[in-house]
Order: sequence, then structure tokens, then C-alpha cells
Amino acid sequence: MHHFTYKNGALHCEDVSLEAIAAEAGTPVYVYSDATLRRHYGVLADAFTDTDCLIAYAAKANSNLAVLRTLAELGAGADTVSGGEIQRAMHAGIPASKIVFSGVGKTEDEIRIGLEAGIFQFNVESRPELHRISRIAQEIGKTASIAFRVNPHVEAGGHAHISTGAAEHKFGVAWHEAEEFYREAADLPGVDPVGIGVHIGSQIMSLAPLKEAWTRVVGLARTLRENGVNITRLDFGGGLGVPYKPGDDPETPAQYAAAAREVLGDLDVQLILEPGRLIAANAGVLISRVEYVKERDGRTFVVLDAAMNDLIRPAMYSAHHEIAPLREPEAGNTRISVDFVGPICESTDRFAKDRPSTPLKEGDLVAFMTAGAYGAVLSSQYNSRPLVAETLVRGDAWSTVRIRPDFEQMIALERMPDWLDG
Ligand SMILES: *Cc1c(COP(=O)(O)O)cnc(C)c1O
Repeated sequence: MHHFTYKNGALHCEDVSLEAIAAEAGTPVYVYSDATLRRHYGVLADAFTDTDCLIAYAAKANSNLAVLRTLAELGAGADTVSGGEIQRAMHAGIPASKIVFSGVGKTEDEIRIGLEAGIFQFNVESRPELHRISRIAQEIGKTASIAFRVNPHVEAGGHAHISTGAAEHKFGVAWHEAEEFYREAADLPGVDPVGIGVHIGSQIMSLAPLKEAWTRVVGLARTLRENGVNITRLDFGGGLGVPYKPGDDPETPAQYAAAAREVLGDLDVQLILEPGRLIAANAGVLISRVEYVKERDGRTFVVLDAAMNDLIRPAMYSAHHEIAPLREPEAGNTRISVDFVGPICESTDRFAKDRPSTPLKEGDLVAFMTAGAYGAVLSSQYNSRPLVAETLVRGDAWSTVRIRPDFEQMIALERMPDWLDG
């Protein structure tokens, strides 16, 4: 459920007309809904009220400071994958005691940032990382609480590029080596092995692969406890899918929670969840303006002012976004087949091919739906297009939460070497 609906013929976010935001903030522009973020977090938290559970929002889905602050207010923690994300989460008000640090390539500096902040947990992905964390922790007189992210050899995920739980993927420690790694960790001075983590992919629509992975993790927890490793936390990862198009029917948070509880049984542990897409995806849209309608070789190209540098999911994962006109089409309107494309000089800069659409003309505005996760975070300045702006709506108020840089700001990080005349 989300808060983007037509009112009096105009698409609104909560009580704000998206046309009004486009007029003032310019396009392309992301619009996030405070009410939707709160609702998604709340529904998930409610489903787990009877469970000792930390909801560590996966910051990489949408790490805008205002989004993180909104979730911090609700009590969310953060799952982070870089030193920058740890700092971002803390800057937005998420306490270090609720921050999990995941990722396959943690640098020395990033580990130090986490240790000095006193984050909740490091999710360790390899033996060399284990030893690195222990050494740095010892150097600065700290002990890191760690979980190994295990690779459960379960296939899931909506697209090959967002599946992570099979042997060929770079993520996690091998299932058959996990017990040995826990024994090794127990003997190291700078780490305290307290948990097991798993994350098998993203945009997962059915509970079966999740339950399979979680069941393996629960079994490992019991075995480790029998062998004297005091596992007190299980991190079930993120990955629950969201509806991108009509007919997409992911499992609900309530079903997800019931499955998690069923798998946990009477095991007494703290649960950690790392939802990203589930919280943010339907809480955001990208608004774009039609620059040209180009007819050629029997095709209709709707050339937008948004491009793959603003929303890369269609180019990167062949992802589908519904594209809705901001002016509500009349009932029984005609539909034509169009290609929605951006202005960038790449053939992959195409958002949709042969998409049924109401006829559009130059100047019309459209919204890419379900663009709140893995949207603005993946934006770039490719083709020297300024970073896309972001806004947040709350009721009848809205605010810019990332400005669109002007030309000076766009080039501010670049320098001329002294051998070129600056
Ligand atoms: C990306 C990621 C998540 C979030 O995945 P979603 O599909 O957005 O819920 C959670 N945990 C880890 C380790 C991740 O890399």
C-alpha cells in the first residue's frame, strides 16, 4: 500500500500535487512519502511485536538522510555496507547500538569506523576479514560482536543479478566451513561470535527459499550451541519482494513473520531483519517531463528528461516500473504502444519497450512508480547531467531533501593539474 493516488484528476503524494512539486523543484525529481515509509515500517514492526527483533533497515536501498531520520524516529536500526553508510546512519540519528555492518569488502578504515562507533554487529564474510577485524579491534582495545554471513546454497531472487545465496556468488562463508570458522573466532581476542547471518537475494516473492535458508541457519545455531558457541542472535537478512506491476503478489509481512516464527520454534534468540526494498520501494516515485514524442519506423518514442543516470534499474536489471501520467487519463481512453526512453547516448537508456500508454505530448509529466528503493541511491552524473533532486512529502507539506547541484557544484570536486592552465 502507498500514498500516491489521483485526486481531482491529478496524481498526488499524500495531500500534495506532484505537478506542484515538479513546477517548483524541476524535473527529474524523486518524491518520497513520509506516510508510506511509516506505514511500511509499522506493518513489519507490528508483525514482529511478540518477537525480540531489531529491524535494521538496509540503508543502501535509500540512504537519503531525511529517509533515514524518518525511520530512526520509528526506532529502526540500519544494515550498512560501507563506512559511509555507517556515518550516514549515525548522522541521521540511528544509534550505533542498532547498526549492523555487512559487505564482502570491508576496508581497514571502514572497520575502524565501525569499531570506534561501537556498532551492534559485524556480519563477517570471510576468514581474512575475521582476522582483520580481530586485529584492529585488539589494537584499539575493543571487542567486535560478529556474525558470520553463511551462504546457505539456496537460490532465490527476482533476477540473476540480485540473487546472492548460491555457491557461485561472492557472498558469505561456505556452509561446510562455518562451524570451523566459529571455533576459530572463539579463540581470537578481538571478536565475540554471537550470531549467524543470511541474506539470499532481493525481490523474493515466495517464502519457500527464505524458510529453507532460515531453517539451515537455525539448525546451525543449535549445533553451535551444543558445541559451546553461545549464539544469541540470528540475522534473517532482507529480500522480501514488493509489487512492481499488477499481478505481482509478494507474501505479506504478516506471512513473513509467521514463517520466521515457525522456523525459530522455541529457539531463544534475538532476531535481526534487514529489509530495504520492502520499506522504501513503494514510498517513492520519480517524476519526469516529456521532452519529445518522436515517431520513427512505425515506433513511438517518448523521450523523457529522466535517464538511466537517474533511475538505472531498467537498464541494470531489466526492471519494470509502471509509468503513470500525472494527469489522470479519462475512463475508456485510448492506449498506444510506446517506448519510454531517456536522452543518454546508450541504447540501454530505455525505461520500457512497447508499453501501452495514454497518448502523451511534449511537456506532459509522468511518474515512475515504486522508485523509492535502488533509485536515487544509484544515480550518477553521467553525461554531465546533474544529480537528480529528491523531495519528501508529509501530509500537505513537502521539502527538498537533496538539491539538484548547479554547474559549479557539479564540477566542484574536480581539479586542474598544474601543467594545464587552470
Ligand atoms: C541489499 C541487502 C539487504 C536488503 O535487501 P532488500 O531486498 O532491499 O530487502 C539486506 N541485507 C544485505 C546484506 C544486503 O546486501
